[in-house]
Amino acid sequence: MKIHEYQAKDILRGYGIPVPRGGVAEIPEMARKIAEGMEGKPIVVKAQIHAGGRGKGGGVRMVRTPPEAEKAAKEILGMTLITHQTGPEGRLVRKVLVEEGLQIDKELYFSMLPDRASAGIVVMASEAGGMDIEEVAAKTPEKIIKVQVNPLLGLQPYHTRQLAFGLNFDGELMKSFSAMVKNLFQLFCDYDCSLLEINPLVITADKKLVALDAKINFDDNALFRHKDILAYRDLDEEDPLEVEASNYNLNYIKMDGNIGNMVNGAGLAMATMDLIKLAGAEPANFLDVGGGASAEMVENGFRIILSDPNVKGVLINIFGGILRCDVLAQGVVEAANKVGIQVPVVIRMEGTNVEKGRQILEESGLNLIVAKNLKDAAQKVATLAKG
Ligand code: GDP
Ligand code: MN
Repeated sequence: MKIHEYQAKDILRGYGIPVPRGGVAEIPEMARKIAEGMEGKPIVVKAQIHAGGRGKGGGVRMVRTPPEAEKAAKEILGMTLITHQTGPEGRLVRKVLVEEGLQIDKELYFSMLPDRASAGIVVMASEAGGMDIEEVAAKTPEKIIKVQVNPLLGLQPYHTRQLAFGLNFDGELMKSFSAMVKNLFQLFCDYDCSLLEINPLVITADKKLVALDAKINFDDNALFRHKDILAYRDLDEEDPLEVEASNYNLNYIKMDGNIGNMVNGAGLAMATMDLIKLAGAEPANFLDVGGGASAEMVENGFRIILSDPNVKGVLINIFGGILRCDVLAQGVVEAANKVGIQVPVVIRMEGTNVEKGRQILEESGLNLIVAKNLKDAAQKVATLAKG
């Protein structure tokens, strides 16, 4: 799960990490009020969306006075902000963060994330922080210092020293950096984070370290034990179909293609998407209804797929193990009757009660195409969706 920058900064504050003072506003007048509390300091107005690259997209503005902050907020609120992370459709801005603007001496990069290769946590830092970190990683990866932390042993002082030396820190900066990294690591573990990124982490003109930006992502599978984080969820930032699917415990991710597909099992779903591509078409979604799906879950999954206007054909691929083929067929027929199908639907199923399942589909009177095997199914749906 993703959260907004202002929410991430609230969490950072709780762990003693210095962040600029500020507040969040949903209307321009509120932005002016917050700016009035800054006692003549410069003011930064920042769009709050679940995507980075806001600076380059025009979503971060520096101003001098409270009326200017109000004006900047008026321009940013309601704008569709397009950044390299939002895709061409952009994201509607509903909130701005209004902060005291700081005098920046240097912008650094800092992040932590689980590293699958080493089954540990990788902590990264770079002197080349700011808005072009992707380019730094691609062209001059040696400028990014990485340390691997064994999660069972935890962060050790030598890890922090290695990072601090790489950043050319000494004296006071070294001290405050060490304390900061220790606290960030604690936060990362306490909250089962899947990403913690501070870019930029700045050294101010008076030589203080401050987290100027903050991005924290959480492992969805651990959210049941973090009710405080769940309260930060912003459904406006999520795809409406994905939100609906999550209400039914369906693993659904919307994609750009036009072949909807419903599969039981994540591995089978991946293989099905590969075969759709191999047949020359593009999947419109990933949907794993799960091994033990009920007829109701199948019905909901099918309805969600069909409510995506991009979908021009559907492939249902089920291996009936725990989910029996007759239960699947029942779910598909019920959903088809309720929603009404406007696009070709190809079904491939094998496994428990497959004969009974086929019989239910045939007797339904619905125009469902039963495929011989998986390859045949993928080719059929790709051809039908084109025509
Ligand atoms: P992002 O583009 O979405 O990552 O948004 P950031 O929060 O990282 O802001 C982008 C850039 O705005 C930063 O890299 C800074 O250069 C600049 N910026 C943000 N806040 C301040 C500030 O208080 N003072 C100054 N001088 N620049 C700031
Ligand atoms: Mn940033």
